[in-house]
Amino acid sequence: MADKIYIDDGKIVVSDNPLIPFIEGDGIGPDITRAMLYVVDETVKRVYNGKRKIHWLEIYAGEKAMEKMHNPLPEETVSSIKEHIVAIKGPLTTPVGKGFRSLNVTLRKVLDLYACVRPVKYINGTPSPMKEPEHVDVVIFRENTEDVYAGIEFVYNSKEAQEIRDFFKKLGVNIRDDAGIGIKPISKSGTQRLVRKAIQYAINQKRKSVTFVHKGNIMKFTEGAFKDWGYEVATQDFRDYIITEDELYDWVKDDDGVTPVKRDGAFKELRGGREPGNPGNRIVVKDRIADQMFQQMLLRPDEYDVIALPNLNGDYLSDAVAAQVGGLGMAPGANIGDYIALFEATHGTAPKYAGLDKVNPGSLILSAVMMLEYMGWIEAALGIKKGMERAIEERHVTYDLARQMEGVVPIKTSEFARAIVERI
Ligand code: NAP
Repeated sequence: MADKIYIDDGKIVVSDNPLIPFIEGDGIGPDITRAMLYVVDETVKRVYNGKRKIHWLEIYAGEKAMEKMHNPLPEETVSSIKEHIVAIKGPLTTPVGKGFRSLNVTLRKVLDLYACVRPVKYINGTPSPMKEPEHVDVVIFRENTEDVYAGIEFVYNSKEAQEIRDFFKKLGVNIRDDAGIGIKPISKSGTQRLVRKAIQYAINQKRKSVTFVHKGNIMKFTEGAFKDWGYEVATQDFRDYIITEDELYDWVKDDDGVTPVKRDGAFKELRGGREPGNPGNRIVVKDRIADQMFQQMLLRPDEYDVIALPNLNGDYLSDAVAAQVGGLGMAPGANIGDYIALFEATHGTAPKYAGLDKVNPGSLILSAVMMLEYMGWIEAALGIKKGMERAIEERHVTYDLARQMEGVVPIKTSEFARAIVERI
């Protein structure tokens, strides 16, 4: 008998037989979903000696939904995800044509999945352009609902664009007559719920720091406000768990040369921190300007841990950091709201490889690892991570990684899945 996952007193409750919906996805979706389901089922069976089992429920979106229900995103699909709390999906083609929004963006919006969470960590043996990729170990929390992604745009020659230009003229602001106009809303509530999630994650996972990345030096009331509202949440809601970087600079070593103390005594209760420079082993909250952060992630990646940032910068930074550890084929992701979590491969449908049993299922399998962690099935998550690490170290990899390694014959999607399971 399968049970629905539910929330009780703010906590997720998962039985030994949870029912979890999945969307197969378009293009390479069926190939990588098949591999992911096989790896998860086999791992769960082995790790828990048959005591636990996921009962999968296929739900439809994209091309398969068009075929079966003549609607790329049926209402049943959205309500099923809401009802089951946790779901996982392959990539979906964005229908081409005017008026169609990306199905992925629509899903995030209708389910209010405001945090796009992407852990990026190097897996031994993966080819990487970095000299020391093992120093990259970050978890990115990208705001998912606001910023220029809100989709408020007006074509340059529209009536609306003209009205907006006229309005700004009254405020003494001149916008060129041939300018298209986009709006960048960033709200206090939208920012603070994301930052709260990032800091709570850092506390739960015992991470060292949370960095707000923003372009507040130029866009003061959107990106700059993101930073200020972030610090507000950190210092008001998490005072006992965090120390800001500015506060940290105020710390000096005590007479013993080791114990950090604060000069003015305001933080006396923090004395006795185990590491000099990190009083009380608190999470250090800091911020960086976005352009400089791209440099930092290349030059000093080990100084960064959890990263919280607005939508557009988050989009850029997550892909750039993923490239540092071997590219998008290996980068997992999740879109998370207050409780509902939709785990997904971060790459697209790569249609030219559809049905060839060729591509790397790593991204979707690692997204399933995140899902197992979210459910509290830590042992199974660890089992898959170990299996995958060993398979890659032993050079059993798909074409995308093989082409960056010398003398490696690529294996198929399904063979990579088997290689993982054999090494759990
Ligand atoms: P893409 O599907 O991610 O593919 C771009 C390239 O990335 C592929 O040609 C391949 O490179 C590499 N790649 C992607 N997935 C891979 C995997 N699993 N293993 C190995 N290599 C992989 O991007 P796209 O061509 O721009 O987009 C195609 C469609 O996907 C569009 O309709 C887009 O809207 C959609 N999309 C969906 C999502 C989503 O559902 N979340 C995200 C992004 C895009 P090589 O050719 O070099 O081997």
